[in-house]
Amino acid sequence: MEIGGITVSEKQFDVVIVGGGGSGLRASLEISKSGLDVAIVSKVFPTRSHTVAAQGGITCAIASADPNDDWRWHMFDTVKGSDYIGDQNAIEYMCSEGPDAIFELEHMGLPFSRFENGRIYQRPFGGQSKEFGEGGQAARTCAAADRTGHALLHTLYQANLKAGTKFLNEWFAIDLIKNDEGTIKGVSCFDMETGEVSIIRCNSVVLATGGAGQVYEQNTTSLICTGDGLGMVLRQGYPLQDMEMWQFHPTGLYGNGSLMTEGCRGEGGYLINSEGERFMPKYAPKAKDLASRDVVSRCIVQEILAGRGCGEHKDHVLLKIDHLGADSIMKKLPEIREISMTFADVDPINAPIPVVPTCHYMMGGIPTNVNGQVLTTSNGKDEVVEGLYSIGEAANVSVHGANRLGGNSLLDLVVFGRAAGRHINKEAAESDSKDISMTNIEESLDLMTKIQSTTEGESVFALRSEMQNIMQNHFGVYRNEQLMKEGIDKLKDVTERTKNIHLIDKSNQFNSERVEILEYFNLLEIANATAYSAIDRKESRGAHAREDFPNRDDENWLCHSLFFKNENRVSKRNVNLSPKTVDAFKPKARVY
Ligand SMILES: Cc1cc2nc3c(=O)[nH]c(=O)nc-3n(C[C@H](O)[C@H](O)[C@H](O)COP(=O)(O)OP(=O)(O)OC[C@H]3O[C@@H](n4cnc5c(N)ncnc54)[C@H](O)[C@@H]3O)c2cc1C
Repeated sequence: MEIGGITVSEKQFDVVIVGGGGSGLRASLEISKSGLDVAIVSKVFPTRSHTVAAQGGITCAIASADPNDDWRWHMFDTVKGSDYIGDQNAIEYMCSEGPDAIFELEHMGLPFSRFENGRIYQRPFGGQSKEFGEGGQAARTCAAADRTGHALLHTLYQANLKAGTKFLNEWFAIDLIKNDEGTIKGVSCFDMETGEVSIIRCNSVVLATGGAGQVYEQNTTSLICTGDGLGMVLRQGYPLQDMEMWQFHPTGLYGNGSLMTEGCRGEGGYLINSEGERFMPKYAPKAKDLASRDVVSRCIVQEILAGRGCGEHKDHVLLKIDHLGADSIMKKLPEIREISMTFADVDPINAPIPVVPTCHYMMGGIPTNVNGQVLTTSNGKDEVVEGLYSIGEAANVSVHGANRLGGNSLLDLVVFGRAAGRHINKEAAESDSKDISMTNIEESLDLMTKIQSTTEGESVFALRSEMQNIMQNHFGVYRNEQLMKEGIDKLKDVTERTKNIHLIDKSNQFNSERVEILEYFNLLEIANATAYSAIDRKESRGAHAREDFPNRDDENWLCHSLFFKNENRVSKRNVNLSPKTVDAFKPKARVY
């Protein structure tokens, strides 16, 4: 067919998954094995997804390091880490289903590191405890050296090849397509190699498009982490949840942003200031350098503000691991050593690594239930968006609440990827609907057709770096009303000017400018969602630290935020405090 002067071809599958990272591949595996026809659409070759960069590990109470470990302790830590706005039914599901999901990966052949006795290696990570916070530090993060994501992603990709999953690699998904009843029935996309545009019809779309760290100037994420699925959801009029909650990882490599895994501190490394002082015990006497990430990031910023930052500009601190010894570093943290030598010219066997808090993870995302079904609200009540699922970092189920614990994302990917796959299989088995009619095909190509006809205007590169700079300076580790108001005014200006964006290169083969504009549209949606959600939440909780409202306010703000694109509206949604098999953990002051 011809739309807006573009030739559009058609494809059809039972299920389309946008995203070939850990979550997408875990879901597709479950679906492929059931015999449904499932395709992964991925803008990069699947094993180049950001999951491949995950270093430290996957947290789960498999009772390997400690035979008495208990998923309920993991659940307690996760609820506390979330600063009590993680949904307790979802956290219960993730922590109790986790061990089974890990052993499944082991049986697929994931090459985990091992203890001497042959069991899967587990290292201590931030915010982990035994006995519901009373029994000291736990070691619960399963690892394959410091390349856990690499091992996980390749294992899942191979399992998918075996199961017969179809792949549309280097295809870019633009927008969702619905039928008359508002049920999601497909996606519009194009093949980046040839520029050929297609619509794909299906019965379920799964958004597994990952995070959006590129919204900040300094971040640990890949250039492809632009939150495309979130933009698609907002453009359909559905909300995003908890978008004010961004994790700043305490140890991004200074000047470069690459991640120095929490595993460095898990293995015994610690932070020092310009006076050589190990400063974390001062702030978190019990957990010290393994307090949770939001806490450690704020402590670093406080040390820097107090003039105890390192280097010429006194704007970073140092991560010391040399005392672990060369053998241990080369065996357990080889990647860290390589990154540090390549990008900071520091061999951590001899000298400390310069680090600074850097945007790392998006706690917010597309609201879903534990089956991965996307939720919207109608008259204050949750309502399922038929045909649409979301999993992984793109989704907000919500297990991470206001702050994610290290290693909990990889677990989230496999547990909820599998759960969504199972639910889709069940729905397909029970339904005899063959309706895959679509109504808004033309609208789903709007973004593409509009930029294709521009003749002049602003460049994406300038607009994008301006937006990233605004986010970095106005919505960073510490926030206040005045700072955020200024940020919102600047974002309004950038949003207005974006209407006049110009695609200079109109060619079809591997047109990276076209891709970058479409990604930027999504990033800008996310920047606005973050800004309005952040100024709305008048308290400090987890990663959202306000100088003007320094305390947590459970009376008014023990809730999720929902952001709608229409008029930048923000509303509240209840947190689930009703786990099925244990008593709910009641909010307490969060000390480490
Ligand atoms: C450096 C780093 C280290 C980390 N270490 C850990 C760790 O040790 N433990 C842990 O638990 N977590 C860690 N995390 C977090 C964790 O790795 C991520 O949250 C997780 O891997 C995200 O997986 P995902 O499946 O949601 O998406 P991703 O792996 O990000 O994959 C997204 C997929 O979506 C596709 N996609 C996106 N948009 C489009 C589009 N428009 N069209 C087509 N395809 C699209 C991409 O091609 C890609 O395949 C780390 C993160 C980073 C950045």
